[in-house]
Amino acid sequence: MIKITLPDQSVREYEEGVTSLDIAKDISPRLAGEVLAATVNGEIRDLTRPINEDAELTLHKWDDPEAKHAFWHSSAHLLAEALEALYPGIKFGIGPSIENGFYYDVDPGEGVTITEGDLPKIEAKMTELARQKETYSRKEISKDDALKYYVQKGDEYKIELIQDLEDGKITFYSQGNFTDLCRGPHLPDTSPIKAIKLLSVAGAYWRGNEHNKQLTRIYGISFPKKKMLDEYLEMLEEAKKRDHRKIGKELELFTFSEKVGQGLPLWLPKGAMLRARLEEFLKKVQMKYGYEPVITPHIGQKELYVTSGHYEKYGKDSFQPIHTPAEGEEFLLKPMNCPHHCEIYRNKPHSYKDLPLRYAEFGTVYRYEQSGELHGLTRVRGFTQDDAHIFCRPDQLKDEFIKVIDIILLIFKALDFENFTTQISLRDPDDHEKYIGSDENWEKAERAIIEATEEKGLNTIIEYGEAAFYGPKLDFMVKDALGRQWQLGTIQVDYNLPERFDLEYIGSDNQKHRPVMIHRAPFGSMERFVAVLIEHTAGKFPLWLTPEQVVILPISEKYNDYAKKVLNFLNNYDIRTLIDERNEKIGKKIRDNELKRVPYLLIVGEQEAAGETVAVRKQGEGDRGKMKLDEFALYINNEVEQQIKHINNPINN
Ligand SMILES: [Zn+2]
Ligand SMILES: [Zn+2]
Repeated sequence: MIKITLPDQSVREYEEGVTSLDIAKDISPRLAGEVLAATVNGEIRDLTRPINEDAELTLHKWDDPEAKHAFWHSSAHLLAEALEALYPGIKFGIGPSIENGFYYDVDPGEGVTITEGDLPKIEAKMTELARQKETYSRKEISKDDALKYYVQKGDEYKIELIQDLEDGKITFYSQGNFTDLCRGPHLPDTSPIKAIKLLSVAGAYWRGNEHNKQLTRIYGISFPKKKMLDEYLEMLEEAKKRDHRKIGKELELFTFSEKVGQGLPLWLPKGAMLRARLEEFLKKVQMKYGYEPVITPHIGQKELYVTSGHYEKYGKDSFQPIHTPAEGEEFLLKPMNCPHHCEIYRNKPHSYKDLPLRYAEFGTVYRYEQSGELHGLTRVRGFTQDDAHIFCRPDQLKDEFIKVIDIILLIFKALDFENFTTQISLRDPDDHEKYIGSDENWEKAERAIIEATEEKGLNTIIEYGEAAFYGPKLDFMVKDALGRQWQLGTIQVDYNLPERFDLEYIGSDNQKHRPVMIHRAPFGSMERFVAVLIEHTAGKFPLWLTPEQVVILPISEKYNDYAKKVLNFLNNYDIRTLIDERNEKIGKKIRDNELKRVPYLLIVGEQEAAGETVAVRKQGEGDRGKMKLDEFALYINNEVEQQIKHINNPINN
């Protein structure tokens, strides 16, 4: 008999060779109908794989990422089976599950192409095969036999993959007439795959190398229920409408130019103003929290980054050093602001009484990203971090963490990101060797982060072994209006750079000590944050931030003069206002400006001019009736005030 420990710590005994599915059935038939994969002693496995030793067992239902992984991976095999049935002789690269769904890279052979027009037919074949309830069976196979199988089949891609694998660790999975090289895990059979959608076709170089052959990548997604697929497709539709690249263009916020270069965003006037308002907002908050502004150049000597270790990380695989006419002189575009800030710290000696020091800079950094990786403002080659580095004593860590958390919460509040989670990344408890810094300091820092998040009542997940080698960290993930998750703010403890830069302070004991460094960026980067904000709000920014708060629409040219009077009046109240003087019908003017997501439209005609009023339309709500000019100005300023009052009165600690 073997002992199976469930997540609630209850222990059950079974015959050796029992499967996770047997155990699920034993617990409840309903559970057995819902489980899709299992984690056995830390390893994700097929439900049907025998368990031969005492084990800790977690059964995964759809909501667990492990279950989705097995489900989508099984769907990728199903896609391959359908393709092989429809395109005999087709060859297969890799077919993994991804964050949303799965793909398979295939080589359909000389003269054969698969286009999006072919997807419905492939989808239909997949559905037909899924209904046959084909079992996924696992088989361990020797490297020789695995190679023989694919030599006979004539699939050079799989042969290449097998050549890199270690003998004794190779498995095949088969369902129906299809066999694949795979580590698993998979569903017991194809029947839970009830709703399938193949989404797109793209080109992908074999093994991501542009010197290799281009394969055809087919993306798809699948669900256990049709309703789930429908909801997902609806969300995709909505996401398309909210694509920040599309809205950024419509609202004239930013652009890219091939001449300037890929991945180098150009902020247009409206976007630059919006970004400036965000920066002002954060600067104001940071000022209250004792940050001091610093400014550093966009380049630094290569030696600076050799010292910091960034040259090793970014030097070869990123922008190459810049040479000057002087011999041997080499500069690097800065990939990080931290080394510069370390040198600012070294500008003069510090005593324990000076700490913490908080240096803040909106610092632009440059990192090379492959052109295929670039995406709007979310993946770029030059971006501006809302960076700051806090140099403090170990005993100040917790307080500093709490203060940074406060700043991040303020931002989330002011910008309506109500739904977020946080992750604490700690050391691997079984392996302290790979981390720099003393055990004592690590324990202090880890405790400080945990206590700070507890005090702030944050909903946190702790991940062991996810810390960087130089320190633990806290990440903020926000869910946008469509439920998509984005990583934004980060707070990272660092024991490494103070060591590398030999940073010191004189303690109360008159001895030299190392300060601890905290890197933090509440927005992450201005580019990424604005992109997420656009997709979250669909371009309908909060009033305090939006480029144009009010547009005045004269019913005809006759009222242009009155419109100008209204404009001047509102400008005196610092309300960002424009006049739409185009000679168009009022209905069209309303539609056009609503499309531009202008929060308030003021319609002015004869009655309004006579009574010194405006007819107010609010975005998304329609007609709000007539208001006197001063009444409207106060109304707008009051709404802005409500939104930013958190900024002017940050939570006191
Ligand atoms: Zn597989
Ligand atoms: Zn940093």
